[in-house]
Amino acid sequence: MSRFLSAKYKKLVPYTPGEQPKDMQYVKLNTNESPFPPSKKAQEMAAETAKKLQLYSDPECKILRDKLAETFGVKPTQVIATNGSDEILNFAFMAYCDENTPAAFADITYGFYPVFADVNNVPYELIPLKEDFSINITDYFNLGKTIFIANPNAPTGMALSKNQIAEILKNNPDNIVVIDEAYVDFGAESCVDLVKEFDNLLVTQTFSKSRSMAGARLGFGIASEAVISDLNTIRYSTNPYNVNSMTLAAGYGVLCDEEYTKANCKKIAENREWFVSELKELGYEVLPSLANFVFAKNERLGGRETYLKLKEKGILVRQFEKERISQYLRITIGTKEQLKTLLSALKEILEETK
Ligand code: PMP
Repeated sequence: MSRFLSAKYKKLVPYTPGEQPKDMQYVKLNTNESPFPPSKKAQEMAAETAKKLQLYSDPECKILRDKLAETFGVKPTQVIATNGSDEILNFAFMAYCDENTPAAFADITYGFYPVFADVNNVPYELIPLKEDFSINITDYFNLGKTIFIANPNAPTGMALSKNQIAEILKNNPDNIVVIDEAYVDFGAESCVDLVKEFDNLLVTQTFSKSRSMAGARLGFGIASEAVISDLNTIRYSTNPYNVNSMTLAAGYGVLCDEEYTKANCKKIAENREWFVSELKELGYEVLPSLANFVFAKNERLGGRETYLKLKEKGILVRQFEKERISQYLRITIGTKEQLKTLLSALKEILEETK
């Protein structure tokens, strides 16, 4: 830390992203990326746009927002595009939280929420998940706070239904409820429809997972026109060119190739079901995931120990030091081949520790 850092950031503990080591070729199942390349249409449109990089990107992101609006059955003025969905989540903390309206989210959820709260000087309440890691929706009723729910949740993969989300919205009429649908395309129910009924709902999604574009950094939000206008005030006050033109073009390209995205999501869901049964055969307890990852633990093996042994064998998974979940591994659903490699490694580790 330099002696110049503002006092307001001196205690800030930044978010720790999943590792992206370059020392060797790993079987990478640690950051919930897609194992499939981006759509050819996305690649071609981005390459074409690279020829015009001397120009600024479109601050209105018009072609992308129009296409998103058509895809989701809303008006373009109900859509905002951002630099990954992390950016829109940060915008929501900036726009809708302060000392009078703190944030509220689960004790076990996306690790960036407390960091966004801290960087924006926002107090927050942690709401414990139930013993089985599910959400008790009544815990979220009439809180007088801005609510953030990842649905499916991370790192558990467990999801609420659209009806349950509607109950939470009904019981917080004067507060914004942000539903982070980063992983919704792998089997959970989206609540985008509910923006027609609830002016307190902001849904965020990303191109990083189901659309194979994590490196392009593209996210978006859908809400009432008024909420989108608030978020645009923040966006134009920080970085109006927040989405670069190659990413905009790639995003448009992949939206023109929904069949490709759907086929990939189907493969991931099938691999997930197969992988869960294989893990259970090995004695793993696996939470019921609707995401592109699973959260699993084995009574015989420590979480940290298994993570380290797998890394030695060239396989990366994610393990969190938080007490309640430290014995679990979060494993991204990759190709069947990658998952078979992981299963063989787990069998070896189980043998070694007999
Ligand atoms: N929400 C959740 C729950 C996530 O796990 C992630 C990925 N780390 C994000 C949002 C942000 O993803 P991105 O910025 O790549 O859209």
